[in-house]
Amino acid sequence: MKYLSTRGGMVPQPFSDILLEGLATDGGLAIAQHYPQVSAETLEQWRGLSYDQLAFEILSLFIDDIPTEDLRALTQAAYNPDLYVGDAMVPVKPLQGQMALLGLSQGPTLAFKDMAMQFLGQVFEYVLEKRDSRINILGATSGDTGSAAEYALRGKSRVNVFMLSPNGRMSAFQRAQMYSLQDENIHNIAVNGVFDDCQDIVKQLGSDLDFKQSMQLGAVNSINWARIAAQVVYYFWGWLRATQTSDQKVSFTVPSGNFGNILAGHIARQMGLPIQRLVLATNENNVLEEFFRTGIYRPRSSENTYETSSPSMDISRASNFERFIFDLVGRDSEQLNALWQQLADQGYFDLSHLLPKFEEQYGFVAGQSSHADRLQTIAQTYKDTGVLIDPHTADGVKVAAEYLQEGVPMLVLETALPAKFSETIEAAIGQPAPVPAHLQHLNDLPQQVVVMDADAAQIRAYMEQHV
Ligand SMILES: *Cc1c(COP(=O)(O)O)cnc(C)c1O
Repeated sequence: MKYLSTRGGMVPQPFSDILLEGLATDGGLAIAQHYPQVSAETLEQWRGLSYDQLAFEILSLFIDDIPTEDLRALTQAAYNPDLYVGDAMVPVKPLQGQMALLGLSQGPTLAFKDMAMQFLGQVFEYVLEKRDSRINILGATSGDTGSAAEYALRGKSRVNVFMLSPNGRMSAFQRAQMYSLQDENIHNIAVNGVFDDCQDIVKQLGSDLDFKQSMQLGAVNSINWARIAAQVVYYFWGWLRATQTSDQKVSFTVPSGNFGNILAGHIARQMGLPIQRLVLATNENNVLEEFFRTGIYRPRSSENTYETSSPSMDISRASNFERFIFDLVGRDSEQLNALWQQLADQGYFDLSHLLPKFEEQYGFVAGQSSHADRLQTIAQTYKDTGVLIDPHTADGVKVAAEYLQEGVPMLVLETALPAKFSETIEAAIGQPAPVPAHLQHLNDLPQQVVVMDADAAQIRAYMEQHV
């Protein structure tokens, strides 16, 4: 298996060579040369596998430059049940009728990003060890990505993590989660500014090629291919739990921001997993919902991106979307380049002539929700089923209800546990969300964070002193 760039300007490379990179050399995104096909017989054979075994089977279809036994050890370490709360690592939690949650948030930071990041941490360490090299991760976070990355990379001797977060703008729980890590290789930097200021500094330092090279700068952001590949696994897992026979179809609803999570669903479907619909749910930041409704993709500026109560979806320029468009235009890099040129020139592109394909060929439909919808959905779901859901998952449940079909199970991806967003839970049901027992003392732990101004030069100097 080799990887191409969506923009067509990269010599095909094996998995380990694209692992540590952000964008491809031509500015595009790495993508598998073809999608491996999984037959009905193979699906049946996979029914009895544990999560780590299933992860091994699926990831070995995408990764052929790591010896089998090593890849097995990496998946075992990433998907060790001790790292996940509850009895089943990825439980299916029934709601009402055909609707159920796919519980992806039982990992160390209580959000679905752990599912991919835990594998990324293992495979990073492995490849760096093999190459006798080191890497310094520079990232920006508004909450979930940064903590999932830090928990996956803590204590790894060949990796330093420098994570910028907007000072005073994350929830108390998210702050405690990140800043209480005492590992020497984890550096939390709270920047006096907003998330975009953090992001700008990462871009600015990353575009300084000398610095990038001398610091062996790397990224773990949502365009990382290993994260996408690891996310494909749980679509298979969910389908295997929700069906008895291989001719049954399942629909998935995915609360979406950067289009990373649902892209993995698209890939699973292209691999032959019997998925009926992929339902994309957005909050008020509905650029993607608008695309699937109209065929017009018009990203917004950060000034026009609302701050909502499902903050991890407050994104108006979905970084993984290009990979889907690549497939949609028949994997024609020339067309793709022309579309991205249009985006740069006129701020949008129009694929409305392909509208019928979205659902017929790819299963995609979309919907959006508002703050009031989230509160109502959290309260109603709790009242009807006793299950408490987080605001992002609530965006999913609200939209999923609009796309139910007779006889087709609907799995809504649970992207975070409610404890992470307790303020909104309280607004919805009048009481805070329960905190898992092992995290109840999180707030009492000492915190390690340096506060700095939004000044790239200062942050650069800090990094140079701390590698
Ligand atoms: C990251 C995140 C999302 C959005 O996922 P994408 O892969 O960016 O589409 C949704 N919900 C939560 C809780 C998240 O952390």
